[in-house]
Amino acid sequence: MRCPYCKHQETGVVDSREVMEREVTRRRRECRNCGRRFTTYERAEIDEITVIKKDNTRQQFDRNKVLGGIIKACEKREISRARMEEIADRIESRIRSRNSMEVTSREIGSMVVKELFRLDPVAYIRFASVYNNFGSPEEFRKAVSAFGRGRGRRMKQ
Ligand SMILES: [Zn+2]
Repeated sequence: MRCPYCKHQETGVVDSREVMEREVTRRRRECRNCGRRFTTYERAEIDEITVIKKDNTRQQFDRNKVLGGIIKACEKREISRARMEEIADRIESRIRSRNSMEVTSREIGSMVVKELFRLDPVAYIRFASVYNNFGSPEEFRKAVSAFGRGRGRRMKQ
């Protein structure tokens, strides 16, 4: 298993566990060269999750694409790569623990929106504006005020 950061070949498993009831092994690996950690999900090829896109085309689920969207939304925000990886992991675990081999890109987008909503206002708005494809300034304002309300609720708790 290659390190996704420095491409070094030797990585060690630091933690390994079965995910939910599906036969997926989640492994936390550490690169022997740069010391960075990353997560792999190992499972039979036949169990791959299919993503159904808006135009009805299908492609294999790819955690890196989810992570890529998160990274883009979090650009220049003070959010560590580890936090972004955690979110991508959480979303992947959630998708893989469902009893379906298919997920729509819309469902994935909605999960990312919810995670970013809790994380950072700018990242949330950036992602939500792409995901919802805001057609008018009014829709955009609604999303912004939804975020404000969410924050207010949490502060009262
Ligand atoms: Zn490395």
